[in-house]
Amino acid sequence: MTHRRSIVRPATPAWCFDVDGTLVDSFDAQHLRPFATELFHALRQAGSPIHVWSAGGIPHARTVLERHGLAHHVVGFHDKTPGPDGRWERPAELSDHDDIVYVDDQPDRLPADSRQHRVFPYLHANPHDRDLAVVLKEVPE
Ligand SMILES: [Mg+2]
Repeated sequence: MTHRRSIVRPATPAWCFDVDGTLVDSFDAQHLRPFATELFHALRQAGSPIHVWSAGGIPHARTVLERHGLAHHVVGFHDKTPGPDGRWERPAELSDHDDIVYVDDQPDRLPADSRQHRVFPYLHANPHDRDLAVVLKEVPE
């Protein structure tokens, strides 16, 4: 008797976060945006891999996420690299993912036809900011 195992595709999308102005303040990246930690925890619970990318480069992204205690949730750090159309190219590590959700404060250069959450640019510490709480509501429990 043979057992056939179907290939299980991930039911949850990969998420890809911008750093400056999205997860942390764009002034000096010292302030984590409210609900960033809760959002990362919810995505881990949902089984969604978390990626982070930045035009400031991989070391910058990693340093900032480590500073705020979130780096261990991240499966991939990536550069934002412009493609021929001027938009950021999808990170190579995500090339075989059908379903990616981007979160960005400047979504105009995200890959075309991508799922995205636009957040208002997080400019400086603001404990009343709720943009990531709104995104958090989109994560299935
Ligand atoms: Mg940004």
